[in-house]
Amino acid sequence: MKKMKKLIVGNWKMNPVEQEDARDIVKAVKRASGKLKRSHVVVCPPFVYTSLFSKAKGGNFFLGAQNANHEMLGSFTGEVSYSMLYQLGVRFVILGHSERRKMGETDELVNRKVKSVVNDGGMTAIVCVGEASRDHNGDYLELIKKQIHIALTDIPKKLLSQVVIAYEPIWAIGATVAMSPRDLHEMSIYIRKVLNDMFGIASDDVRVIYGGAVDKVNAEELIREGNVSGFLVGRQSLVPKDFIEIIKAVDTTQ
Ligand code: PEP
Repeated sequence: MKKMKKLIVGNWKMNPVEQEDARDIVKAVKRASGKLKRSHVVVCPPFVYTSLFSKAKGGNFFLGAQNANHEMLGSFTGEVSYSMLYQLGVRFVILGHSERRKMGETDELVNRKVKSVVNDGGMTAIVCVGEASRDHNGDYLELIKKQIHIALTDIPKKLLSQVVIAYEPIWAIGATVAMSPRDLHEMSIYIRKVLNDMFGIASDDVRVIYGGAVDKVNAEELIREGNVSGFLVGRQSLVPKDFIEIIKAVDTTQ
């Protein structure tokens, strides 16, 4: 498999309330990311803070967004287009997060967004997939396969290095305990197989990361045994000291 940079993505969601707090987090995380050898760090603030950090990008530090509209411009009240984000320095966009799917985002809409972000926008799409719960028949595996299949329809093989699959079991998001490293390992093998069936050897370019209750305590074991290329981090990405410990655990674990 090709050696690509590992990825630690911070999803701030609708936080923090104070601009100054946002600046402080970015300052601390950017400083820490300067020393990394094997990883890139992406911070995804709410849209309104994006322009504050459009010049922050550099070295191992990247600016991301939590969503994007797939149209370049037009009459779409309250929306922000992928091309506007690009101009502000955004290079990664989280798409299909379960909290957005809960608000009505379908697999087909996620696919339209992935195509705009990757094919038209030249950015990297972090495509979230994950089951709400597990069943003994393995139906959740079919759901993950379907989410990946639809999201990545019409994505050319040559652009797969701009695709990241964030496996986020919904039951682990916001929970106190993350998925076990062993279960994560199995799941990542499954996701890699789905990608391989779809794209063949070119699927090696797709990074698979994990999200769901990652913290400074479990990060090292999850990255060492989970067979993933990094993490999507919610709550702990708002606590610079803890987020930096997670970043370091990813970067230093082979
Ligand atoms: C998320 O919302 O994507 C997430 C992983 O949240 P947390 O890390 O807080 O579980």
